[in-house]
Amino acid sequence: SLLAKLKDPSLVTDKALIAGAWVAASDSGKTFNVTNPSNGEVIATLPDMGRDETSRSIDAAYRAQKLWAAKTGKERAVVLRKLYDLMIANADDLAIILTTEMGKPVAEAKGEILYGASYVEWFGEEAKRVYGDTIPGHQQDKRIIVLKQPVGVVASITPWNFPNAMLARKFAPAIAAGCAMVSKPAAETPLSALALALLAERAGLPAGLFNVILSKDSASIGKEFTENDKVRKLTFTGSTNVGKILMRQGAEQIMKLGLELGGNAPFIVFDDADLDAAVEGAMVSKYRNNGQTCVCANRLYVQAGVYDAFAKKLSEKVAAMKVGDGFEAGVNAGPLITQKALDKVEEHIADAVSKGAKVELGGERDARGGLFFQPTVLTGVTAEMKVAREETFGPVAPLFKFETEEQVIELANNTEFGLASYFYSKDVSKIFRVAEALEYGMVGVNTGLISTEVAPFGGIKQSGQGREGSKYGIEDYLEIKYLCVSIE
Ligand code: ADP
Repeated sequence: SLLAKLKDPSLVTDKALIAGAWVAASDSGKTFNVTNPSNGEVIATLPDMGRDETSRSIDAAYRAQKLWAAKTGKERAVVLRKLYDLMIANADDLAIILTTEMGKPVAEAKGEILYGASYVEWFGEEAKRVYGDTIPGHQQDKRIIVLKQPVGVVASITPWNFPNAMLARKFAPAIAAGCAMVSKPAAETPLSALALALLAERAGLPAGLFNVILSKDSASIGKEFTENDKVRKLTFTGSTNVGKILMRQGAEQIMKLGLELGGNAPFIVFDDADLDAAVEGAMVSKYRNNGQTCVCANRLYVQAGVYDAFAKKLSEKVAAMKVGDGFEAGVNAGPLITQKALDKVEEHIADAVSKGAKVELGGERDARGGLFFQPTVLTGVTAEMKVAREETFGPVAPLFKFETEEQVIELANNTEFGLASYFYSKDVSKIFRVAEALEYGMVGVNTGLISTEVAPFGGIKQSGQGREGSKYGIEDYLEIKYLCVSIE
């Protein structure tokens, strides 16, 4: 069982963190189960909460935020540094909890914990560097000063694909800036969020400042988050469709929004690319997290001169992947998260095949059954197929053939999404031409891995607004106030 695997079993709790207290039962008495996607076993039964618990948390956060904002940046930094140290010290346990509820291989889960922790470290450091401006006055007696102040209470809704990191990327800058947070982790993967909250408490985070609502009823919680006027910002990572719902709801009080939404990442391989490097990049960009990331390569465009060679090399690498339970040795592809996710992968493959694509490798459910699917490579893919327009969110690499640079840029940009993009070339002029022409928030050039706490992660178009990480990340949790002082 999960607890037996842990050095510190007290990192697993079946209580929510509401208004400064760990709460075992919901007002309604309802509960929901968290299951292991690898074998369907129930890992935890948790209270299923609603708007009232959310509202109480917001009240507590509202009070706690005033006191927290009054502390110095250094005082806030000390708590975040301590939390970072605790995350590192408990990284193995946090990874085990994560794999048990989400399914990814435990080595990848540990990578996620270290990645999540890097945001806590980074924003703790940034807490001391929230600089304003002084601006030369427009009249002789005027002095102009620009202050940066915390936004206030921040609500957070996060998905299941990175149960630790998606929350850490929001929690850390909010807390560093002097905000409070009421979070609603995905019902599929709440245990990682609770473990983070337990460690934050041990690190000395004041009671009430951070809340974790447990609920299966995201729509109700989203309503409370957007209708409660004590909430000053909503930060959401998830689908573009839900992002639009939340934006509409938030419009009523002109709510500040941070949105990390869907992607449809192009991954372009030019004839002059280092083909082995491009295959390596495609492996990490496409198959990391079993294809379940918003920056996963979704469309692989390969220039005609290297198309067959790339398809062959990629298929060889993919054939060597090992599907299985995240705790089995050597596994690099776990289960998909839900039956719905598996159905979508099958639907995309069936649609492509019906329109003339060829399955080079995989294409079917894995022999072990459950939510396991074979890593798949498709060739002969064209713009009419669903995989060209929709995010597959699974281990399927569709290879499109293209002829010219101009053509591939048009194809790559022909989507409502604008999150991550990737391309491989050794021609320095082409590198800048293509990088500047791609309508995306992020461009990986000769690399398939772009996420780091020191850089601004985020999208344009319908992939969202705001940035997470880097010096820009903390700005999303700050308001500008300007003082015009007459000294006459
Ligand atoms: P996915 O489930 O594919 O990751 P979603 O956007 O559907 O993407 O879900 C992301 C998060 O948003 C989840 O935690 C989910 O519970 C939550 N969610 C879904 N619908 C709503 C809604 N109407 N209001 C608020 N949150 C929602």
